[in-house]
Amino acid sequence: MRLPDATDVLVVGAGPAGSAAAAWTARAGLDTVLADAQVFPRDKTCGDGLTPRAIAELDRLGLGDWVRGHTVNCGLRAAGFGQELLLPWPGGSLPDHGSAVPRTELDDKIRATAQESGATCIDGVRAVDVERDAAGAVTAVVFDLGKDKGTHTITCKRLVVADGVRSPLGRILGREWHRDTVYGVAGRSYVKSARTDDPWISSHLELRGEHNELLPGYGWIFPLGDGEINLGVGALATAKRPAKIQIRPLMEYYASLQRDDWELGPDLRLPTSAMLPMGGAVSGVAGPNWMLIGDAAACVNPLNGEGIDYGLETGRFAADLLVSNENIEQRWPAILTEHYGLAFSIARRLAGLITVPNLLSTAGPIGMRSHVLMTFALRVMGNLVTDEDRDVTARIWRWAGKRSIQLDDRPPFSA
Ligand SMILES: Cc1cc2nc3c(=O)[nH]c(=O)nc-3n(C[C@H](O)[C@H](O)[C@H](O)COP(=O)(O)OP(=O)(O)OC[C@H]3O[C@@H](n4cnc5c(N)ncnc54)[C@H](O)[C@@H]3O)c2cc1C
Repeated sequence: MRLPDATDVLVVGAGPAGSAAAAWTARAGLDTVLADAQVFPRDKTCGDGLTPRAIAELDRLGLGDWVRGHTVNCGLRAAGFGQELLLPWPGGSLPDHGSAVPRTELDDKIRATAQESGATCIDGVRAVDVERDAAGAVTAVVFDLGKDKGTHTITCKRLVVADGVRSPLGRILGREWHRDTVYGVAGRSYVKSARTDDPWISSHLELRGEHNELLPGYGWIFPLGDGEINLGVGALATAKRPAKIQIRPLMEYYASLQRDDWELGPDLRLPTSAMLPMGGAVSGVAGPNWMLIGDAAACVNPLNGEGIDYGLETGRFAADLLVSNENIEQRWPAILTEHYGLAFSIARRLAGLITVPNLLSTAGPIGMRSHVLMTFALRVMGNLVTDEDRDVTARIWRWAGKRSIQLDDRPPFSA
């Protein structure tokens, strides 16, 4: 395929965030190029879990029936500290169901949707540099085409950076990830299971290591409905209290504990691990004509590590801003803060507490004994409080967020 030389909107990174942004800008009639370093379909280390909020975004994109054709779950089975609770998705302003689709398939489908919407999609091209004008606006992005193939430059009027956790292009533009704020380390694998059609996703909130030590994280089992489950473990850490955990051996151990209950096959397929920036703990999210979205902007829930819904949402918000022609440098950090500032501030404060030694062993059993508290926790952990919600949980969450953000040395998305 001949590579394009110029475009209005250039989106770098074709995960959920970038593909959603490209679909929406193309649908709005903007000339759009969506570029990714990898060749699709490609894998991405992930639990593959789709919260009701992610389902709402996939519905908006026209992918609701497609996702529901995979698997549908009705809520969370939370286990730990001698308790097991079944917590249905609350419904309300969001769908009352979630799903789980392997990322190889999901990301390929959203990218294809961007293409069908009119975006030009190119893959196997790695963004390695930018050209800027005197005012700091990006005028072009330079792509490495692979071994012995040289480079190719695409000029653009606006740039959306959706290049994930490490955001190499974001770094060139000045993005900084603050690891003194809580972040995650997590691993996932696929395993055969007789319970692949279980209608609940499961979280084991009392995650223990081989020496029975309590760890600041959780294990998950997300049934995929295709003969396998996604099994993984995740832990929280800060620069001060790094997670002293080896993710892959821990995942094997966790699988051994769940093997009988879930009738698991002998092998963990494709075990991989990754870090997760969380709760808007990055600065430099926008410039004169560019913005960071999804993981690049640390839009990941600090309480459970999910970020597909934020990726899809920030893709849509970014497209709306590009269509409106408002000032990107001023408006983008403000838009992220309006939508996520309060929730991220309180969520990352609570997540930080989980890393404090002995706190989890005291608070965990108390929390798990209360269905009301855990129903509240599911709602806020699952990012299921929308801007429109006015009920008691939503009001408490926003109130706590307002108090929390006042105490932040560095509020989400700020310098
Ligand atoms: C172990 C683990 C489990 C998780 N489980 C869940 C879960 O169950 N549910 C959930 O909602 N979230 C989960 N997450 C988080 C979720 O995976 C991310 O939040 C989500 O993928 C963010 O999407 P994105 O589009 O921002 O980035 P990505 O999906 O990472 O996409 C970034 C894209 O950018 C491309 N790219 C990178 N650099 C360049 C470059 N220089 N040039 C061109 N392209 C480039 C990459 O190839 C990639 O395709 C999990 C994360 C981890 C690590």
